[in-house]
Amino acid sequence: MNVAIYPGSFDPVTLGHLNIIKRAAACFDRLIVCVMVNSKKQGMFTPDERVELLRRATRRFSNVEVDFSSELLAAYAKRRGARVVVKGLRAVSDYEQEVQMAVINRKLNPKLETMFLASSEKYTYLSSTIVKEMARYGADLAEFIPREIVDDVNRRMRTMEGKEG
Ligand code: ADP
Repeated sequence: MNVAIYPGSFDPVTLGHLNIIKRAAACFDRLIVCVMVNSKKQGMFTPDERVELLRRATRRFSNVEVDFSSELLAAYAKRRGARVVVKGLRAVSDYEQEVQMAVINRKLNPKLETMFLASSEKYTYLSSTIVKEMARYGADLAEFIPREIVDDVNRRMRTMEGKEG
């Protein structure tokens, strides 16, 4: 079975992520979307919450699984029997860091290949950070994130703003 992993922070999942998930799921028998826990970053949602939002947004894809891990990606891929890591490339700015990561991951796990999918032109500007900015200003989020999670993001932003102010 050809298993691929799509790792990221997904804080929260955007339509750009979802576009990559849909296209990658069509290329592999199984796609594991993995929330990678980065202790340095304090997020909008906890890893468990991100997993729940991702599960809701990807329910219609029967070969997509959502998981989370605080392991090194190379070790996680080995444990899950995955040979491919999928990454989305939005612009040249993503390139340098992603290539560096790909080389390191292959050093750590020589059987692991990284494959890049070019972002759909509709979503090249989109990131979780932009979504959080838009939410702060009360913009309509339906253009940026899956409909199923719009209320969750708005609600969380209101709670966060309430605490800060
Ligand atoms: P961000 O916080 O920048 O939105 P993540 O760390 O969650 O991103 O991203 C996980 C992966 O998804 C990375 O490979 C990233 O390049 C890719 N990605 C993020 N947003 C998009 C998008 N709009 N289009 C294509 N790929 C994307």
